Order: sequence, then structure tokens, then C-alpha cells
Amino acid sequence: MTPIELEFLGTGTSGGVPLIGCDCPVCTSEDSRNLRLRSSVLIRYGKTSVAIDCGPDFRQQMLRCGQKTLDAIVLTHEHMDHVAGLDEVRPLNYQQKADMPIYCTERVAQRLKQQFAYAFAVDKYPGAPGLTLETIGANQSFEIAEVPWTPILGKHGTWPVMGFRIGDLVYLTDVSAMEMDQVERIRGAKILVVNALRKIPHVSHFSLEEAVRFAQSCAVPEVYFTHISHQMGDHAEVEASLPPSMHLAHDGLRLTIP
Ligand SMILES: [Zn+2]
Ligand SMILES: [Zn+2]
Ligand SMILES: [Zn+2]
Repeated sequence: MTPIELEFLGTGTSGGVPLIGCDCPVCTSEDSRNLRLRSSVLIRYGKTSVAIDCGPDFRQQMLRCGQKTLDAIVLTHEHMDHVAGLDEVRPLNYQQKADMPIYCTERVAQRLKQQFAYAFAVDKYPGAPGLTLETIGANQSFEIAEVPWTPILGKHGTWPVMGFRIGDLVYLTDVSAMEMDQVERIRGAKILVVNALRKIPHVSHFSLEEAVRFAQSCAVPEVYFTHISHQMGDHAEVEASLPPSMHLAHDGLRLTIP
């Protein structure tokens, strides 16, 4: 299989870091690793580029990483910090002369038709985003440019959330629990990305301690934490406290999975 590259477009929780109106040491830090746009990654293999999630910072993220084309967007769930940027695919529709394929579950597809009703309307106005929904199931792998993507179902509080395994890479966000049969799908991977919100527990996201324990149970040799709140603390300090195989991700970080 061709090598897979992952670039972190954003590693922040729903409000991003800095948070509007906050002057805590993290939000006012001069270390750029403490600046976190909303969580999303770009996956590249061969000539194919796919974004996982499309939050409110999508435009800024695409400009910052210099990405000019996109073959598809894969969505983990319907929360706005993961879908609010879907209107920003318009320049890609125009340049690629095609609708953007959006891979998501039936549940998310139904929510998108409400959240972005104008994009799915029969009398769509000219210039509205072109989105083609490609429905995926929790127990069915799908292919993007002939590379299989395996869904991994997580629990996000009481909501379902999808993670994905692409070759030896696993990307999970907004998870707070997972059934054992789904954890089995992670085993044998080389890199795991999983969310860790902050040190204190939260009802619908893993805390740092829970994320560390979860990662240990998956036995993946290299782990990166994402979807991070300003309440996590300073990047360098938290990074220094982690086991050697585990790291806090930061915006712009690139990984290659051979
Ligand atoms: Zn989120
Ligand atoms: Zn703050
Ligand atoms: Zn969420």
C-alpha cells in the first residue's frame, strides 16, 4: 500500500484555542503549539487528498496548509465544530467543476439536510455549495480512490461518532467510550490519533487520563491526542508529562505512516 500522510489541520475542541474572551496563560501563550483551530485532519495518499471533518476553520486551514484540491470529505459526526465549514467547499466545487463527495452515516446525512437545507434544496440558489452525500454504515468498509476505510463506532456521550482506520492509521475524535468489538478494529495499527479534552473528566469526551488508558488498551506503538481544550494546560508541560509513545498533537503537525 502507498504511504499515508496525515496533517493536523486543527487540534482544538469546539471553541478553539484561544477561546473568545479568555486571557488564561494558554490562550495568551506565545507558543504557537497552544493555538488550536477546530479538529480536522488532511489524509493524503498517492494523488488523493481527503479531509476528515470540516469545521468552522476549514477555509483558514486549507489556505494555511496550501491544499488546493480535495477528493472527498469524511465526517465523524454532525456537531457544528465538525461540519460548520461545509459552505466553504464552494471554491473547490468551482475549480474542480464537481460536487464534493461527503462520506457520512445515514444519521449524519439526515442532520446535514436540516443544518444545510439550502444546499440540498430543489430550488438551490446559484453558487450554493455542491455536496453529494455518500452514505456509509458502521460495519461496512468503503473505498476512496481504491483505498479501504474501515469505520470504528465510538460513543460520544449519548451520540454515536465514527472513527476511521486507513491502513495502519486510526483517527478517532469526540469519543468517550467504545465497545470491545470496535477496539478490536484498532489492534495492529501503527499510529492512533484519539481525543483528549482536558485533565478533568467530561461527560462526552475522554479526559487525558481516560485517553491514555484507552490508548494503552489498544496497544498501538505511537499515539497523538487531539480535540484539546485550553483547560488542558500548556502544550510543552503536558507533552513532558506523557509516556514516551504518546504526544499532544498540534496544528500543522505531519505524520507519515509507511
Ligand atoms: Zn468536537
Ligand atoms: Zn483560556
Ligand atoms: Zn462532538
